[in-house]
Amino acid sequence: MPKSVKKIDVLIIGAGASGLMCAIEAGKRGRSVLVIDQALKPGQKICLSGGGKCNFTNIQISSDHYISSNPHFCKSALKQFSQWDFIHLLEKHRLLYEERNHGQLFCKESAKNLLDMLLTECRGAHVLFLFNKAVICIEKLTGNQFKIMTTPNEIVCQSLVIATGGLSIPGAGASPFGYKIAEQFNIHVLPVRAGLVPFTLDPTDKKKLAPLSGIAVDAIVKVSKKQFRENILFTHRGLSGPAILQASSYWQPGQKIIINLLPDINLFDTLKNFQKNGSKKAIKSLLSNYLPKRLIHAIIQKNMAERSLQETSLKELLLICDTIHQWTIIPCGTEGYRTAEVTLGGVDVNEISSKTMEALSVKGLFFTGEVLDVTGRLGGYNLQWAWSSGWCAGQNV
Ligand SMILES: Cc1cc2nc3c(=O)[nH]c(=O)nc-3n(C[C@H](O)[C@H](O)[C@H](O)COP(=O)(O)OP(=O)(O)OC[C@H]3O[C@@H](n4cnc5c(N)ncnc54)[C@H](O)[C@@H]3O)c2cc1C
Repeated sequence: MPKSVKKIDVLIIGAGASGLMCAIEAGKRGRSVLVIDQALKPGQKICLSGGGKCNFTNIQISSDHYISSNPHFCKSALKQFSQWDFIHLLEKHRLLYEERNHGQLFCKESAKNLLDMLLTECRGAHVLFLFNKAVICIEKLTGNQFKIMTTPNEIVCQSLVIATGGLSIPGAGASPFGYKIAEQFNIHVLPVRAGLVPFTLDPTDKKKLAPLSGIAVDAIVKVSKKQFRENILFTHRGLSGPAILQASSYWQPGQKIIINLLPDINLFDTLKNFQKNGSKKAIKSLLSNYLPKRLIHAIIQKNMAERSLQETSLKELLLICDTIHQWTIIPCGTEGYRTAEVTLGGVDVNEISSKTMEALSVKGLFFTGEVLDVTGRLGGYNLQWAWSSGWCAGQNV
């Protein structure tokens, strides 16, 4: 029996953040648009994001907030469709949002409302959807068209957009499909790894720090030449919290991370003052003014922690201060794609137009969002990249 062949102007694979934005813009331009997703429903990561409140952008967006083999690549798209343009869209739909630390913008009610807003825009732009649909293969036809084989249909399109995201959270539809398509068309793919992800610890550190599970501390985390000031969180598996997640994107296996557990005070001067004023308190009780007792117990040697300040030598004092201001850990690894928020690396942006997201060597083939080698820091930067890159492709498909 002959298969039915459907013709469409624009086929988008991936109904996530960037695919939906691309669909809206292409549909508004009068292009016929079909979005295919292997998942049962669209925008699963949008709903998971920001703890269900979706940190959809940030007031301060610049290329400095992104990691890429070409740090200039993201500039054009972020300028063409900025954080203010996305905020304007939210305001048009009367969606309430709030600003939190570091300029991060979250939905006031639910990420689901933001997804509904995008789907309303899609309906207005006559975008068609096919869910629970796997693409079997893609072929480039003569005359700059693509043939996409799915079961039971074949679809022929003029523009093909790969918006399949990265590898994190396989349960939310993640797949390496986008990288495979890039390779099929001889477009280079840079090695990928999990980013914005908790660290795991070696068995000794894990045992030592396990009793701290649930404790959060404001800290500065340094990795190579980067540093982040936010909370760190001790978990039963290792280290998490925003400062750790940020550091993880810059961390290479074997590298140490240095954590300043008391970034606002000079502990040496403080303890010296207590000493001068004749304090007879034990080190551990003085430190407990600043840090949780369980943390002091885990990282300061017992004999030193229990000694009175007056009996503590200068050398020991320096050692204690060093442990707290420069607590050094070599993570065993990361929790990987199971819990990572993003995938670092991906489709080499040097082979993509920064203005249109079209592959330089394959007319009509576009890549948007996280599948590209552009990874934002924590704070709404990844979704803004998805909106901006999707929007740019939407103007050019
Ligand atoms: C738990 C979590 C929380 C996050 N929180 C935030 C946040 O608050 N702020 C922020 O900026 N970023 C956040 N991110 C990152 C952000 O969600 C992503 O960077 C963004 O969604 C990427 O958009 P995308 O369109 O490239 O891909 P996605 O949104 O991942 O969409 C890809 C789509 O492609 C589909 N797909 C994959 N393979 C195939 C295939 N073979 N065939 C058909 N369809 C396929 C998937 O089912 C999916 O629907 C978070 C990520 C996670 C995992």
